[in-house]
Amino acid sequence: MVVASPGVAAVKPSIDQVENLRKQATKARNELQGLDKELKGLRKEVRQSKKRLRETLAELAKADEEFDRIRGPLAQLANSAYQAPAASGALSIFGPGSATDALHASADVTFLAGSDQALIDAAEELRDRREDLADDAQDLQSRTNLDQAKIKKQQKTLFKRVDDLKNQLNKMLKNLDLDRDTELTLRCDESLVEDSKKFPNGLIPGQYLCKIPQQGFLLRADAALSFVKLNAAYKKRFGVDMCVRDAYRDLAEQQRLYYARPGFAAIPGHSNHGLGQALDLCGGVQTSGSVQFTWLEANAGTYGWFHPSWAYSSPFEPWHWEFGTQDR
Ligand SMILES: [Zn+2]
Repeated sequence: MVVASPGVAAVKPSIDQVENLRKQATKARNELQGLDKELKGLRKEVRQSKKRLRETLAELAKADEEFDRIRGPLAQLANSAYQAPAASGALSIFGPGSATDALHASADVTFLAGSDQALIDAAEELRDRREDLADDAQDLQSRTNLDQAKIKKQQKTLFKRVDDLKNQLNKMLKNLDLDRDTELTLRCDESLVEDSKKFPNGLIPGQYLCKIPQQGFLLRADAALSFVKLNAAYKKRFGVDMCVRDAYRDLAEQQRLYYARPGFAAIPGHSNHGLGQALDLCGGVQTSGSVQFTWLEANAGTYGWFHPSWAYSSPFEPWHWEFGTQDR
C-alpha cells in the first residue's frame, strides 16, 4: 500500500473527474478530426485555385502577346497623330503600356479613322484585361496561402490541447492508483465505437480501439469493455486470465494469414477481426469440449460474446469467438 503525501492526497481526483476529462479529450479529438477534414477540403480548393491560377497566367501571357502584336501599329498611329497639325502638345515617349494613355490624350484632338479607333479600343481593352488577370492571380495566391496558414495554426493548437488533456488524464489515472481492470475500463471510451465504424475493415487506427488485459491486443471499445468483464469472470473460475492469441487484426496481417492458410482465414477485408470484434483464444478454449470451452460456451453470452455457428464445423475453429449478435 502506497502512503500518499498530504499534498498528493488533497488533489486525488474522483472517478467522475476522470470521466469528465476523458470526455473532454474525446471531444478535442473529434474536433481535430473535423479540422483534418476541413484541411483536406481546403487542400482540394488550393489545388483548384492553383489550376485557375495557371489558366489565368496563360491568359495573361496571351493578352501580353496580343498587346505586343499591336504595339507596332499603335506606335505608328501615335507617331502620325503627333505629326498631324491638329495634335496639341507632344506625346510622351512610349513605355510598355503607356502608348494608349498617350493616344487617348491625342485622340480628343486628332481625327482618327474607324480602324485606328478600333485599334486603340482593342489596346485599352487588353490593358484592362491584363490588369484584372494580374489582380486575380495575386488574389488567388494570397487567399489560399492565408487559408492554409490559418487552418494549420488551428490544427497545431488543437493537437496541443489533445496532448495536454491526454497528459492530464494519464496523471489523474496514475494518482488514482487503480487496479488493472478499472484503469483499462476508464481509459476506454465507448464513444470510440462510432468513430471506429468510419474506417474500413482492417484499417482502424489504434487510437480508436481499446486495450484489453492481455498485453498487445486491441478490440473495438464495446467489445473490449465487455471482454474485461468476461475475462474477470473467467479468472474467478479458473484462477488465470484468458489466453488470447489474436484480437483486432489489420488488413496486412489478414492478407498474410489468408495467403498462408486459404480457406481458414477470412477473405481480407471481411473478417470480424478487422472490425475489432473477434478473438482467437487459447489456454484450453481452442479444444472443443474442454472444460474451458464448455464454460465459455455457457457464460460468454452474458457478456455479449458468442461462438459463431460456422466455427463449429466450417471451418472448425473452436478458438474463434465474436462480440455482438450472431449472423451479422
Ligand atoms: Zn479468428
